[in-house]
Amino acid sequence: MQRGSFELMKKLNMQVILEIIHKTSPISRARIAEVTGLSPATVSNIVKELLEMELVRETSRGESRGGRKPVLLELNPSGAYLIGLEWGIAEIKGVLMDLSKRVKAVRDMPVDTYQVGDFIDSTLEIIDIFSHKVDHPERIYGVGIGVHGLVNPEKGVSLFAPHFKWEDVPIKEYLRKRMGYPVLLDNDVRMMALAEKWDGKDNFIFINTGPGIGAAIVLDGRLHFGRDFSAGEFGHMTIVEEGPLCSCGNFGCLEALISVDRLVREFNPDLHQGLSYGGLKEEWGRLIMTAKKGQNKAREILTDAARYLGTGIANLVNLLNPESIIIGGDFIVAEKIIFPLIKEQVSKKALSIPSRKLKIMPTVFGENAGAVGAATMVLQKLFKLEEGDNNE
Ligand SMILES: [Zn+2]
Repeated sequence: MQRGSFELMKKLNMQVILEIIHKTSPISRARIAEVTGLSPATVSNIVKELLEMELVRETSRGESRGGRKPVLLELNPSGAYLIGLEWGIAEIKGVLMDLSKRVKAVRDMPVDTYQVGDFIDSTLEIIDIFSHKVDHPERIYGVGIGVHGLVNPEKGVSLFAPHFKWEDVPIKEYLRKRMGYPVLLDNDVRMMALAEKWDGKDNFIFINTGPGIGAAIVLDGRLHFGRDFSAGEFGHMTIVEEGPLCSCGNFGCLEALISVDRLVREFNPDLHQGLSYGGLKEEWGRLIMTAKKGQNKAREILTDAARYLGTGIANLVNLLNPESIIIGGDFIVAEKIIFPLIKEQVSKKALSIPSRKLKIMPTVFGENAGAVGAATMVLQKLFKLEEGDNNE
């Protein structure tokens, strides 16, 4: 066997063992050998390396099957750190996570311009802050970034980010010139879905709401990218033929009907055009408060939005038969008003078999979903040659 393939085998085995320890810890070396089919000597050698790298640690002794009690292994939470960032329209959100997926630190920075250079500068600042928060900065295994729009995760290029007016921006290359950590880049909504996937969900569609409407599809435990990485452009599903003009040039797209911009302008037509995202959020809060107080116009706007979104979701449910629909973004703050209406619309429009056990719920990660997901992209790469591996 050539040395190259031997190295690869060893790396693969190491990832397999690391993942088993992650999923079924604490676990003994003997049990790892049983589960993987690897020889006890191979397991023992690889575990020795993982212990030296401090990714794994020895813990309590397990039950003896006659003879000495085996030493059990588990992940060492501070053995690796992962940084995740969401490059949003209003702010850059960063999280520092450890190997037990605990968020150790959160940092937000406002976005003043949509110049790529500014995003890079803020990102480097956040990474610098995080690297001072850990005892071993060399244990930071990588930086994951979620950015809106179309992204080529293999090349680390933002293909098209309509809100930032970016086209073919080689973000990974820019960052790699200025820091040493590996960089992984993908679409923001796919990152939010990845966070939920690591939370144990395997068949779901994540829908992000806000100035843009997007989705990410996870089926049988795998993120779906599509040939051109553009799968999940749920906001551009046509809902009303001859409906309002969308940013994509089409008419009647879901995004043109229910983006937060659109809804607050319907509520208050006098709002000036260049409203900042912060101003938009304030207006959105006002719209929800007014609806909660029972004002008809505000209630109607949210009812229509929930109906359009419910119609879109019913189409997804019929097409893909997911276990759950997870909603993130600005609609979460209006959960009490909007969710029951969405559920009603879905049960009315979707076929009964895929909709009867369907769960529709808000993301458990709240506003951190994108950044947490971006960090888990790095974790996933560490554990397994899966979605993220093509990125380095
Ligand atoms: Zn559109």
